[in-house]
Amino acid sequence: MIAIAWYSSGGMSPPPIIGSLAPVMVRDPGELQSVSVCFLDASQRSAVNGVLRLRAACGDALYLVAVTGQAGPELQAELFDAGADDLLLEAGGHQVLHCLLRARRHLTRVQAHEQCREVLQDKLDGWQDGLDHLPTPIYLKDVDGRYLGCNTAFSNFVGSHRDELIGRTLADFLAKDAADAHRESDMAVMRDGGVLRLETDVCIPDTGMRHIMLHKARVDSRNGGLRGIAGVLIDITERKELEARLTAAAERDPLTNAYNRRKFFQVATSAIQDADRDRSRFAVAVIDIDNFKSINDELGHGEGDLTLCSIVDTLRTHEDEGVLIARAGGEEFFAFFEGEHVSMAGEILERMRSDIARYCRVVTAVGAAGTVSIGLADFSPADETIDHALRRADLALYRAKRDGRNRLCKAD
Ligand code: GH3
Ligand code: MG
Ligand code: MG
Repeated sequence: MIAIAWYSSGGMSPPPIIGSLAPVMVRDPGELQSVSVCFLDASQRSAVNGVLRLRAACGDALYLVAVTGQAGPELQAELFDAGADDLLLEAGGHQVLHCLLRARRHLTRVQAHEQCREVLQDKLDGWQDGLDHLPTPIYLKDVDGRYLGCNTAFSNFVGSHRDELIGRTLADFLAKDAADAHRESDMAVMRDGGVLRLETDVCIPDTGMRHIMLHKARVDSRNGGLRGIAGVLIDITERKELEARLTAAAERDPLTNAYNRRKFFQVATSAIQDADRDRSRFAVAVIDIDNFKSINDELGHGEGDLTLCSIVDTLRTHEDEGVLIARAGGEEFFAFFEGEHVSMAGEILERMRSDIARYCRVVTAVGAAGTVSIGLADFSPADETIDHALRRADLALYRAKRDGRNRLCKAD
């Protein structure tokens, strides 16, 4: 059903043929909300303003017919420009009928569009609602890096409401360097396609530092043109922490936190493989705690553990001098030197020995305990394997023990 109104700012009555349609008589655009076709008196120039006002107040839902009488082509054009849908030059019976038929066809189309829009909006709302339920931040950006949409998790992540984000770029939120870096990777994805995976540390308000895996993908529109970038931010902080714990468990001794025997051979073997086999030299040392059993026997195993840990801590304070320390087993340790540190190995080990003698030594029934004896051997991988060099270092260690402990002996 079409509801008809007559609007005249000058208070003029409708022509009889329109009056016979029993229109709602309107003086104020606010009264037009439930009307589908409005005939307006456009016999005066001020009608252009009337059209503008009605169109602004009622939007596209209203079909506006300007009843112009004998308006010239210029005024007719102005009325269309102002928002009139149709002109009625002569308010004769069949002209009005044709006009109403055109209105009905227009309104049917508008209604179909509106229904289509509602269905699409409903689908969009469904998608948005679904994305908002996910804890993973998701966003969509256009080719210029402006946000087209995002879910609630992303709004929370950047600390801005969705409405504030849409239409803005990362440069509005991040420091220039960070924004430029993201823009660069966006451009690379848009150029190359595929999915880009980046790991980055991000500081989140109220949460602190998190480790994020960022997936970015190029999005193309249906006609094949470039639409922009879709991105997902996956918080992998816990996974990273677990990885670090597993790595530590695989390569470190749980009591002292020193590298274990396996890690020692891994590092040493790869250093030897990477080096120039004919010209490079390395050094290994075997370090054994003196009379350690007597510490366990007299002070208990717990005190023995503490002594072991403090000896390892003292050994490791020298790691930045270029030595790798690992627990070989029990109260025995290996040291590994490469490059320019090989010639310093004796001095570094001597400093370790004297630090340990000063800070960890205890006196037990068998004499001084908690000091270390050390055997040192340097070698060239062209002549000797690391195992063989360790055996020579071990022999030197026996000499150090035999000669009274708390000393360093070099292998022959
Ligand atoms: P030496 O100077 O000849 O090396 O004498 P030592 O007593 O150090 O050597 P010995 O081989 O007789 O004893 C080593 C002791 O180290 C025996 C073992 O119980 C102890 N030990 C090995 N691992 C640990 C550990 O993880 N914790 C504690 N508390 N003791 C350990
Ligand atoms: Mg010992
Ligand atoms: Mg031993």
